[in-house]
Amino acid sequence: MSIKYIFVTGGVVSSLGKGLAAASLGTLLEHRGLKVNLQKFDPYLNVDPGTMNPFQHGEVYVLNDGAETDLDLGHYERFTHTVLSASNSTSSGQVYETVLARERRGDYLGKTVQVIPHITDEIKARLRKLGSEQPCDVLITEIGGTTGDIEGLPFLEAIRQFILEVGPQNAIILHVTLVPYIRAAGELKTKPSQQSIAKLREIGLQPQVLLCRTELPLGDEVRQKLSVFCNVPRDAVIEGRDVDHTIYQMPLMLQAEKLDDIVCRALSITAPPADLTNWRRFVDRVIKPKKRVKIAVVGKYIELQDAYKSIYESLTHAGASLDCGIDLLLVDAEDLETKDPSSLLVDVAGVLVPGGFGDRGVEGKIRAAQFARENKVPFLGLCLGMQVASIEFARNVCGLKGANSTEFDPKPEHPIIDLLETQRDVTDKGASMRLGTWPTKIAEGTRAHKVYGSSEISERHRHRYEFNLKYREAMEAKGFVFSGTSPDGSLVELIELRDHPWYLACQYHPEFKSKPNQPHPLFKGFVNASLAHID
Ligand code: GLN
Repeated sequence: MSIKYIFVTGGVVSSLGKGLAAASLGTLLEHRGLKVNLQKFDPYLNVDPGTMNPFQHGEVYVLNDGAETDLDLGHYERFTHTVLSASNSTSSGQVYETVLARERRGDYLGKTVQVIPHITDEIKARLRKLGSEQPCDVLITEIGGTTGDIEGLPFLEAIRQFILEVGPQNAIILHVTLVPYIRAAGELKTKPSQQSIAKLREIGLQPQVLLCRTELPLGDEVRQKLSVFCNVPRDAVIEGRDVDHTIYQMPLMLQAEKLDDIVCRALSITAPPADLTNWRRFVDRVIKPKKRVKIAVVGKYIELQDAYKSIYESLTHAGASLDCGIDLLLVDAEDLETKDPSSLLVDVAGVLVPGGFGDRGVEGKIRAAQFARENKVPFLGLCLGMQVASIEFARNVCGLKGANSTEFDPKPEHPIIDLLETQRDVTDKGASMRLGTWPTKIAEGTRAHKVYGSSEISERHRHRYEFNLKYREAMEAKGFVFSGTSPDGSLVELIELRDHPWYLACQYHPEFKSKPNQPHPLFKGFVNASLAHID
């Protein structure tokens, strides 16, 4: 079978959950025995989101090969078994960068370089390259942004040409749209969807499936109207209600709406029905856990739902595996700088300090680490979380009062955390950190070794600073355990405290490798320890 292509576009407004829809369709097709791959086209001009602020973009999701990508790729990896790489994430910035570099080299000598054909050719080439590099049965491509955006046009034009080339039997468009309820009229309105489909048709694209985000059930009449005005078969107009508990309900909901049947029929795919028993079991445990545990996340972007997405998801996975619901207490690190930690971290069974950049809120994170250490509350520090745990211990246990990271103080008395040697001459900000998967050697007899059940692991990284080995002995003498390092011992990857029931922190980001039904050992260990703490 040649590759079948599904393009996921969005209309009316952003934030309709296109990424989740694409990922959930991936879950369904994978459970039908198909090999699925997913990718995202992002119309912005940034080469990647690595340099964007979480306020702009939410979390930056890091892949094995170090690509810094959109958080939708996190959904793709969590909802399927696909392991993604840089080729699964294409921004307009990358496309233009490639074409302009070619132009400078003289590859187009004599020609005028234009959006059509040069930019669209490059987009199509990337589509084909992904298909040949990572063979699959179905390639799902999500197009960021909303139909009608100027920036998205080159991608849509490239898709139009591509469908013409591979044939309509091999490529379909799933359009995610909004069907709003207008209270004054007491009606669901189809006009915005009609108009967004009209925009697509204007540029030669016709969706085969309409996924309608709606607060209320789509009645027969509304479905019929959408079918006629949007030129989509009546049974391919499907309802996408807001899920009430967890995003992992979405594949179940879409299966009930027969999305996978519709897609398989449209693409002439024969595959057995999806058996979602295990998925459903996981969802049931997320919805109705037997126990609950309160975990504090101390960060500076806690008001943004998307900034620590993978961390929240990892806690959910770990909780479900222990039949335990997570009550998140989101604590603003800046508040901890002025208020007493025990007044903000009331009754918490675990404290998690996530990664971060810049000095805002850092002293608050340090106080959170101190609170967890002194009160023997389970602690998990991730990346910056490990760095603040180290600074805290150096200052308050080893008596190194002036301990700090050179990220926050260029000349501290004790640079416990300092720039990586390889970072000293780096001037560009984009894609220049220590990124992607690197191995860690875990010392036997440590808690980390027990948690992982292994002495060799590999995890994803995204940092510029590291623990300064000059302080290793002094810290070790006081009970700070260096449980994991790079294989040559030169970089500290994982630390723990000797005199504490469960206090672990790592320089890497375990949150990028947790999945439903495959919780990450560090998160599972942390939630388990938090449960033990309440007992
Ligand atoms: N700012 C720290 C560093 O660059 C931590 C990075 C992170 O938490 N991702 O090393």
